[in-house]
Amino acid sequence: MGRESLEMDVVFVGAGPANLSGALHLARLVREQNHAVKSGQLQGKPLGEVQIAVIEKGSSVGAHILSGAVMDPKGLVELMPEFVEQGAPLESPVKEDHFLYLTPKHAIRSPITPPPLVNHGYYIVSLNRLTAWLGEKCEEAGVNVFPEFPGAEMLYDGSDRVVGVRTGDKGIDKEGKHKQNFEPGIDLLAKVTVLGEGVRGSLTKKLIRRLGLDEGREPQVYSLGVKELWELPDDRYPTGRVIHTLGFPSDQWTYGGGWIYGMQNRVLNLGYVTGLDYRDPLIDPHAEFQRFKTHPFVARLVNGGKLIRYGAKAIAAGGLHAMPKLYADGVLIVGDSAGFLNAARLKGIHSAIKSGMLAAETIFESLLADDFSASRLESYERRVKESWITPEMRRYRNFHAGFRHGRWLGIVNAGLQYITGGRAWGILDRDHQEPGHEAVRKLSAYGYRGDDPAQRYKDLRFDATLTFNKVTDVYYAAVAHDEDQPAHLHVLDTNVCATRCAEEYGNPCQRFCPAAVYEMADVGNGHRRLQINFSNCVHCKTCDIMDPYQIINWVTPEGGGGPDYKGM
Ligand SMILES: Cc1cc2nc3c(=O)[nH]c(=O)nc-3n(C[C@H](O)[C@H](O)[C@H](O)COP(=O)(O)OP(=O)(O)OC[C@H]3O[C@@H](n4cnc5c(N)ncnc54)[C@H](O)[C@@H]3O)c2cc1C
Repeated sequence: MGRESLEMDVVFVGAGPANLSGALHLARLVREQNHAVKSGQLQGKPLGEVQIAVIEKGSSVGAHILSGAVMDPKGLVELMPEFVEQGAPLESPVKEDHFLYLTPKHAIRSPITPPPLVNHGYYIVSLNRLTAWLGEKCEEAGVNVFPEFPGAEMLYDGSDRVVGVRTGDKGIDKEGKHKQNFEPGIDLLAKVTVLGEGVRGSLTKKLIRRLGLDEGREPQVYSLGVKELWELPDDRYPTGRVIHTLGFPSDQWTYGGGWIYGMQNRVLNLGYVTGLDYRDPLIDPHAEFQRFKTHPFVARLVNGGKLIRYGAKAIAAGGLHAMPKLYADGVLIVGDSAGFLNAARLKGIHSAIKSGMLAAETIFESLLADDFSASRLESYERRVKESWITPEMRRYRNFHAGFRHGRWLGIVNAGLQYITGGRAWGILDRDHQEPGHEAVRKLSAYGYRGDDPAQRYKDLRFDATLTFNKVTDVYYAAVAHDEDQPAHLHVLDTNVCATRCAEEYGNPCQRFCPAAVYEMADVGNGHRRLQINFSNCVHCKTCDIMDPYQIINWVTPEGGGGPDYKGM
């Protein structure tokens, strides 16, 4: 069966807030230009019809979107000043802000909320819903939105110029053979391709490597956010209340913190972030979150409630120094794929939206000039530098790096940075940040005997009331993948697993994956073999980031597969 090609003008890969804002803004700029030329307000030629497509690997727009989320509305206000009147699905304005330090038994309320976590004037949102709504706005504006279409490969011409994207094939069985419903992916050809795949984008990663877009930049570092929604039996936690926590259960060498947000209809949104540059090889971010819930303060809040949703997703925390070059011939990178998130504020929605808009303005100018070369698209980086994104990121550029010296120095550093505009005590500026997987120590170096998790989590039990094991939690992520397809988690050398990795790190994939995808299964005679339960995968990208030997490659599965984060 031949592969079809479809000519578009602009293709946005990934229907997250960054790309949807970009597509919507571009559609409007084109419409306004056409109108202004036709009505004689502007000289020149109308751009005419510009074909804009957004492709998304999830079964619907928003299905794979997981966030906190407290949204700074700054980006959305610029995209759509009347977003409230336009029906943006907002849970609630933030009504109260609290910051707590958790010791194992107590919750100590800080008399002041650290400035980056002051959320006055912001909104609690379900980013899943907000994104679905933005998708509708795009369609109304004439953008072609294609869910169930994963971008599987970038298309290049002979001079390494990006000329589009190939979507994933459908109907391939687990042996790699064509099934009856086989359909080859489509080559979507475009003058400009915009990568807005979110954190650790699978195409973005390959593009950055191929074109050396990270040359001279710090390696990106990540965290993992693990989250649940609970339905409470009463009004004990008001809608609009925001709590952030530091301390328990993280040890002082592990970057981390919790959040508790009050949504509508007595839904409590709580989660825990663990830095994916932890040292202790036995750390399990899902277990850290379960321990967080056992804290008396948190346990009391959810007591008598019901778990209704679960999800997990990585967060790019490296900041300004870890951002790659944002453009090349025929391609731009936006949102979390480029690392626009501000880790100190745990906020990336506003800058994702803004980066999408700046990409749209750049593309609009390129369409007018009919020039899609890197030298034309470079103006995207200039726009980013001149926008409010850069001063914000500059101020917090050493935030995450400060925590490499432990929690207390990290806090002092964060305070100093706030006062000095990001400089801290100087030595940290451009201090080398090792990639997170290199920070993990070997079991022996940490003094562990074997990989029994009880050495770290001796008190943790999964009682299915307050605490849940991974398999149960995955059920609440509503994950679905057709099991008769090749695994989308490519382990490039499985020989390492039962030998070197077992010995050195005790197969940490079984712990860092929050969805029980990786399992060392007994195959008799005391031997174990890696089993990949890929159908559990929640697309958080942690394995691709955290594997100590960097031999796990996350690629897109068949379109539509993955979690369904309704209301998350
Ligand atoms: C746990 C957690 C808590 C957070 N809390 C907050 C918060 O409180 N406030 C805040 O402002 N920000 C928060 N953030 C950050 C915020 O969610 C992101 O900054 C924002 O969503 C980035 O938008 P994006 O469009 O770049 O990427 P995403 O929102 O990740 O969207 C990317 C989309 O692209 C799709 N995709 C990926 N690869 C492909 C492919 N190859 N082909 C097709 N589709 C693809 C994905 O399925 C997804 O739908 C949080 C993030 C996490 C993980």
